[in-house]
Amino acid sequence: MRVAVISDIHANLHALEAVLDEIDAEPPDALWCLGDLVGYGARPNECCAIVRERADVCLLGNHDLVALGRIDIGDFNPEAAAAAAWSRDALDEESREFLESLAPSAGVKQAQLFHASARDPVWEYVLTDEAALATLLLTTADVVLVGHSHVALAIALEGDTVRGGLAPAGSEVELRGARLLLNPGSVGQPRDGDPRAAWLLLDFDRRFASFRRAAYPIERTQRELRAAGLPEALAARLALGQ
Ligand code: ZN
Repeated sequence: MRVAVISDIHANLHALEAVLDEIDAEPPDALWCLGDLVGYGARPNECCAIVRERADVCLLGNHDLVALGRIDIGDFNPEAAAAAAWSRDALDEESREFLESLAPSAGVKQAQLFHASARDPVWEYVLTDEAALATLLLTTADVVLVGHSHVALAIALEGDTVRGGLAPAGSEVELRGARLLLNPGSVGQPRDGDPRAAWLLLDFDRRFASFRRAAYPIERTQRELRAAGLPEALAARLALGQ
């Protein structure tokens, strides 16, 4: 079975379309999405409609929850808060209904999935060895998938320690032996210095994970953010991958 994993789309339609074009070039058996479909970007309803149509599993992220009014805007930094308020107004009934049907974690036969972490599926950033170890010790699946940090990662559990870290474009990891925690990186707002849209291919038959990046027309997304009156910093950071 081959599975494409996407996360943190953040209403960036052009990034999502570029990733789906790459995925469709060699169609997988399933598509899993780790949440944060909306927030930051200007095309939330289009992204929700596409993911609702295409994903076999989809999680709910903190930005989805704030857009639904289920967590407080005050919990976000000023730019994210401004985007959250904008997204609340922009979400249509179908998007709202779809997001309301989701949860921040899920289990499937091949993996355990969390938007953020096993310790806190909504909020915790897995960016330290300690956090990665905690999630691996709280789970049992050979493959544990997290999003939320917008940084592509591959971390293996060896005994009671972890090894690994950043997973740049083209990285491949074997799915055998050690249990793994993998973060595909972000489709719509990468923060690991590579501005291209991130996704992950899992091949459970040939037993590897492959970290991919898709170039997309960043300036089109930036124009849409500016036209929507979203904070300039949110447009500027897309070109930097930060
Ligand atoms: Zn996110």
